[in-house]
Amino acid sequence: MTTVLPRLRAETITANSLKNITSSLDSLSPNQQLLPLTAIVNPRDRLEIGGCDVVELVQRYGSPLYILDEVSLRTACQQYRDAFTKHYQGRSQVLYASKAWSCLAVCAIVGAEGLGIDVVSAGEILTALRAEVAPSLIYFHGNNKSVDELSYALESGCTIVVDNWHELKTLDHLTKEQSLSTSFIEPRIMLRLTPGIECHTHEYIQTGHIDSKFGFDPNEIEAVFAYVSESSLNCVGIHAHIGSQIFELQPHQDIGGVMVQWFKLAGEKYSLKFSELNIGGGLGIRYVESDDPPSIEDWVKTVCAGVTDAFVTAGLGLPKLLCEPGRSLVGSTCVTAYTIGGSKTVPDIRTYITVDGGMSDNPRPITYQSKYRAVVANRMSAPLSQTVTIAGKHCESGDILIKDIQLPETNAGDILVVFGTGAYNYSMASNYNRLPKPAAIIVEGGESSLIIKRETREDLLRQDCLPERLRK
Ligand SMILES: *Cc1c(COP(=O)(O)O)cnc(C)c1O
Repeated sequence: MTTVLPRLRAETITANSLKNITSSLDSLSPNQQLLPLTAIVNPRDRLEIGGCDVVELVQRYGSPLYILDEVSLRTACQQYRDAFTKHYQGRSQVLYASKAWSCLAVCAIVGAEGLGIDVVSAGEILTALRAEVAPSLIYFHGNNKSVDELSYALESGCTIVVDNWHELKTLDHLTKEQSLSTSFIEPRIMLRLTPGIECHTHEYIQTGHIDSKFGFDPNEIEAVFAYVSESSLNCVGIHAHIGSQIFELQPHQDIGGVMVQWFKLAGEKYSLKFSELNIGGGLGIRYVESDDPPSIEDWVKTVCAGVTDAFVTAGLGLPKLLCEPGRSLVGSTCVTAYTIGGSKTVPDIRTYITVDGGMSDNPRPITYQSKYRAVVANRMSAPLSQTVTIAGKHCESGDILIKDIQLPETNAGDILVVFGTGAYNYSMASNYNRLPKPAAIIVEGGESSLIIKRETREDLLRQDCLPERLRK
């Protein structure tokens, strides 16, 4: 008998997730599940994802291994898209904030699902372009874009989300230079504003409050509008992003009301004809049982209601509404499989169990004190008999992946699978201690394919140079 894990776990979690039990798999919101949608326990008592036995995947591809469930990713994309169609009367476009995990396969899937892509560097632009995402659907963010990156984005035909005065003036200058050439296309820009909305999340991932390094301060908005109206930049709208891993709906309910006043001001006083409003990303996911994020549909519905209400009240037509989720699209679609090594028991204090990765493949626990859940994938129904701490293999006492988790008895060689590692894991991975970055695979219908090769020891030396005079 197989057990459908997202539902099994939802059952024991919170009242909110109880409603999931009766719904079919594709109506589950991936961001509310601890595990990918296709996760089951197979008859061999092992974890299976996308029809693939996770223990066999590790035997084939090695560990640590990122395992991406294609069904979960496509479902999340479709739920965003369908919710806008259902709850918004105007035009809309969902963008994937690719900093969550920028690689060819993820960009190609979200692109094929009709989403655009949000990028923050030339490297992310290149990845989106090579994944054949249309440049008209690529939006370039960042608070310190270089001249080189701006030129590349302009040549590629991306929309630029301007963050500050320095960038605005640089772009204006670049545009004037290029405007003499025959192939000149007026750059499409948006302006990022700091909306002054606070949300309850980790301080490092809050971006919408006034004291933030991102975006124009509300006090300078009129000066910015005046400057843009005199420039040769084609400004199509405004943008705000208030933070990440947000569980409350209120900040996104309010954002329409804050943005509409600036939309209106730009049109009435500065003759700027804005057509697009981008309200950012930020919807949270369930990392541990007590996390209780709203569903993708409820989040979209709230955003749409807030924007519609604000624009109708202001007597303006509905803008093209954009949002740019990262974590809630990709976070819950991936797990990381590790091989368990040794353990250490500090009497009366704790037992450490070590795995063959750590802060280099998942820097979130050490950076944000993030919490995770895990299972022993080769013995899924074994009773949870011990409380242990999962330690990484790096030379850093803080390299702890999970503190105090209930697990069955473990042995060296067991496969530990950590959930919710799709967002800000591979994209933040490093080679600390000269560990090669793990491989990533995608699973679907019993098939698995590599999407990122495992780095080799030689890869680690690829950029090293040894000057002649230092050679023996
Ligand atoms: C990080 C970021 C996002 C995505 O945030 P998530 O919490 O991953 O949805 C969207 N827009 C901007 C500008 C960002 O910086």
